[in-house]
Amino acid sequence: MELSPVTDLPEIRPGDDLADLIADRAGDDLADGDVLTVASTVVSKGEGRTADLTEYPISGRAQDLADTLAELAGEEKDPRFAQAVLEESTELLIDAPFLLTETRFGHICVNAGIDRSNVPEHDLLLLPERPSKSAARIRDGLAEHGYEDVAVIVTDTCGRPFRHGQRGVAIGWDGMPASRDWRGEQDRDGRELGVTVQSVVDELAAAANLVTGEGAGGTPAVVVSDWAFGDLAGSDELFRSVEDDLIRQALRGWEWEGGT
Ligand code: GDP
Ligand code: MN
Ligand code: MN
Repeated sequence: MELSPVTDLPEIRPGDDLADLIADRAGDDLADGDVLTVASTVVSKGEGRTADLTEYPISGRAQDLADTLAELAGEEKDPRFAQAVLEESTELLIDAPFLLTETRFGHICVNAGIDRSNVPEHDLLLLPERPSKSAARIRDGLAEHGYEDVAVIVTDTCGRPFRHGQRGVAIGWDGMPASRDWRGEQDRDGRELGVTVQSVVDELAAAANLVTGEGAGGTPAVVVSDWAFGDLAGSDELFRSVEDDLIRQALRGWEWEGGT
């Protein structure tokens, strides 16, 4: 497997066509059968998913959340930001000492994935509304440039429960399944695998994030070549439903009792 950065992409502006910009620069690094990862930051910028704090009227709930967060952090917290997080979310799972929410497309992350850095001219950068649709648009755009079969993964950098540190995850994908189902295959001792469903889109997103980087010097697009999904069964189930998620069920009965 090879990971190649797509270099020299410009600052992405609303309305920019990422497929065009990437196709113009990828050249021979990109070929049919490859996977292209694209950081959600530039997908959002291209889709104009920027916002300003002044657009958010402060609900009582947002004010309460900001007050609690401010008290715990010992510094001011803008209730308009809490309002933005609520508006991007369908459920608030943790309300202190940070906001953990489910986004409208099913991804669970801190602050609904809203970024406050590297957003020229605006206060906030929201996640794409439907990242898998964004991935499909980029894939279709690449096909128009002669790259007939490139799977696309939209990534974000997220923290993890139980472990320090952040890593890349897939928040949208198109042209490949999200997971590879090993159930029914055999291990080295001939025992049947009973539970292993490998989230390949997350694994590719994490690998690509090593190349993407986080600071100013990185690139938002990475080509994964010489990698194949293989012929195991695939699944597009990535985000657990509440019924299928013990941790989330436990959180629903959970209340923060102090300390940061
Ligand atoms: P996220 O992981 O999706 O939140 O994306 P990041 O904000 O970490 O950005 C990923 C990489 O893309 C970083 O190396 C940034 O420096 C870079 N980046 C962010 N925005 C732009 C942009 O508009 N143009 C270019 N060329 N690079 C960008
Ligand atoms: Mn991000
Ligand atoms: Mn990142």
